[in-house]
Amino acid sequence: MMEDRAAELSLRPRYLSEYIGQAAVKDNLKVYIEAAKLRKEALDHVLLYGPPGLGKTTLSNIIANELGVNLRTTSGPAIERPGDLAALLTNLQEGDVLFIDEIHRLHRTVEEVLYPAMEDFALDIMIGKGPSARSVRLDLPPFTLIGATTRAGLLSAPLRDRFGVVGRLEFYTMPELSFIVSRTAELLGVGMVGEAADEIAMRSRGTPRIANRLLRRVRDFAQVRGDGMITSELAETSLGLIQVDPKGLDQIDHKMLHAMITSFRGGPVGLDTIAATIGEESQTIEDVYEPYLMQIGFLQRSPRGRIVTPPAYAHLGLPLPQTPER
Ligand code: ADP
Repeated sequence: MMEDRAAELSLRPRYLSEYIGQAAVKDNLKVYIEAAKLRKEALDHVLLYGPPGLGKTTLSNIIANELGVNLRTTSGPAIERPGDLAALLTNLQEGDVLFIDEIHRLHRTVEEVLYPAMEDFALDIMIGKGPSARSVRLDLPPFTLIGATTRAGLLSAPLRDRFGVVGRLEFYTMPELSFIVSRTAELLGVGMVGEAADEIAMRSRGTPRIANRLLRRVRDFAQVRGDGMITSELAETSLGLIQVDPKGLDQIDHKMLHAMITSFRGGPVGLDTIAATIGEESQTIEDVYEPYLMQIGFLQRSPRGRIVTPPAYAHLGLPLPQTPER
């Protein structure tokens, strides 16, 4: 795991031109970055949202790099008290980027410190206690806050409103993922045939992080069971061995769909009920598993809960329920 983490860092593209896909977000950012540089101003605050592993952290690093400024990285849960955030903010230099991952998990009291910081580049601090306490305003250097979250809807409205640029990252297409897999293979110095890249891309759930992880596992099989070269057959067999099916579904997807079908006739069934049945966190299902299952049309959301769709039954080789109560 540690090794994967380190490997992931070195695989990150460093410039916008190396960042595959996400054309909508990327093209607009290019303009905003250029404009900020021309005016010698800090880039407006940016909110990036989308499922894990789609490249939010990578893009933030690229933005700082393209702006030619420092990047400070932290995360919502890591900032425990307002003072922690104040320390971060007062250490920024003009134009720097502060990246807050999982920004929806900021404590309320910390979030309130962020409002004037984002809006006026100011920090309101309380000095003293009791009747003699007073508030002092400190100026901050202009900076750019980049917030990342799995869902924009998790943010409070006042925080969301303070971002001038909002970018939604989408799942990647097959050709994009295939390109990313080939690029990573090259960086890792592993031989691979083009079709094998497609095979891995197909099972990557539209997600670069998963694509890179699957590639590393396939490389292990290629080195231990083969001659080091990744062929389509080798990719297919090894991905089968680690239980990633041809659509990229893993054991948890299977467990979830099977539970919904066998215990709830395919739904509608509430998220918390599904979570309790398979012993996973609701939040994990909602952020990690569900978005992809919905994207490929295996799951639908209705006001009464989640529903398994006919293509999912077909994929699992299961018959549709006889008398659907929908
Ligand atoms: P997030 O912050 O959204 O969870 P990351 O930025 O950590 O995702 O991306 C996960 C990995 O996927 C990175 O290590 C990077 O190598 C790869 N990656 C993400 N987006 C791209 C992209 N557009 N092009 C190439 N590689 C990417």
